[in-house]
Amino acid sequence: MAPYLPGKPIEEVQRQLGLEDVVKLASNENAFGPSPLALEAMRSAATTGNFYPDATAYELRKALAERLGLPEEQITLGAGSDELIHLLSLAMLEREDNVIAADPSFPRYVAGATLAQAEVRLVPLDDDERLDLSAIAAAIDDKTKIVWLANPNNPTGTAFDKRAFQDFRKRIPESALIVLDEAYYEFASGPDYPDAAEYLKSGIPIVGLRTFSKAYGLAGLRVGYGFGPKEIIAAIERIRSPFNINSLAQAAALAALGDEEHLRNTLELSRRGVAELTKAFTDWGAKVAESKANFVWADLGRPAAAACGELLQKGLIVRSGAGFGRPNCIRVSTGTPQQNERFTAALKETLKELAPL
Ligand SMILES: *Cc1c(COP(=O)(O)O)cnc(C)c1O
Repeated sequence: MAPYLPGKPIEEVQRQLGLEDVVKLASNENAFGPSPLALEAMRSAATTGNFYPDATAYELRKALAERLGLPEEQITLGAGSDELIHLLSLAMLEREDNVIAADPSFPRYVAGATLAQAEVRLVPLDDDERLDLSAIAAAIDDKTKIVWLANPNNPTGTAFDKRAFQDFRKRIPESALIVLDEAYYEFASGPDYPDAAEYLKSGIPIVGLRTFSKAYGLAGLRVGYGFGPKEIIAAIERIRSPFNINSLAQAAALAALGDEEHLRNTLELSRRGVAELTKAFTDWGAKVAESKANFVWADLGRPAAAACGELLQKGLIVRSGAGFGRPNCIRVSTGTPQQNERFTAALKETLKELAPL
């Protein structure tokens, strides 16, 4: 099994390169920090850190149930949606089964299936770096148990709309569970967005995954949630570790959910950031995928490793596409306006000797 390659932590780059001012634009985190309400809630929750957390995460689950319009028994929490990908794979898959995932997409789908000793069928993205829903549908057979659809997709940021999803859904047998990974839901939702919770409420057996790591700015706290048919949620509840969401994380997530202003600012700034980063890459001649998330995916048309290395020397951590099997690509998360400006200036400097191929 290939080890997961996380974005480099800021402290590591500071240590290794002797740099002080390092900016991380590599893991699609919220550059504006956690909500002040979440910080306050964590301070207060810290005083009861001697007690085990509430194993049911009662308050948080209740708030999510209200928000989603779903009963609490259809919601489960994970230490990041990452844990839920893992648990869902272990709960659903047996040896002869297979799962379908796009390539490149979020690497944890493959890891989950590998751990469960199931087969993974990877379906390449189309020429616009979008999930090829019709090729995905064609790859499904009677041993397919999970179809993983990240919408928007990571690392490309591209999203499919309601109509494309309706057409797709009609082609999927009931034996295959569709999982919509909506890690970037807050950035992408709108009238055309195929919202997993809406399908579930209309009786369609589908699983949705969301997280507090991206728009809510709590990646370090590790809270994600999933919703789906109650039998599937019950299976995950049975195999999860009882205290998977610690008490600070529960308090922070609950408070963050109530901070609409923080969310609004985040979305606004991220939209601006996507436009600025997209422009910086396209001005040079790179091909940038249409992003509905808080990051951009640029194809330089030539190996990007040297550019990533040079950006790192300038104190900017970005994600090389190499880890996704796409060495010509770079993924850059949106930062604060100042960070975006610093990045675009550094990118210009880095690429000025190079011509797009
Ligand atoms: C970031 C991300 C996740 C996982 O986030 P957690 O921090 O584990 O909640 C899941 N899916 C996609 C597509 C992501 O980009």
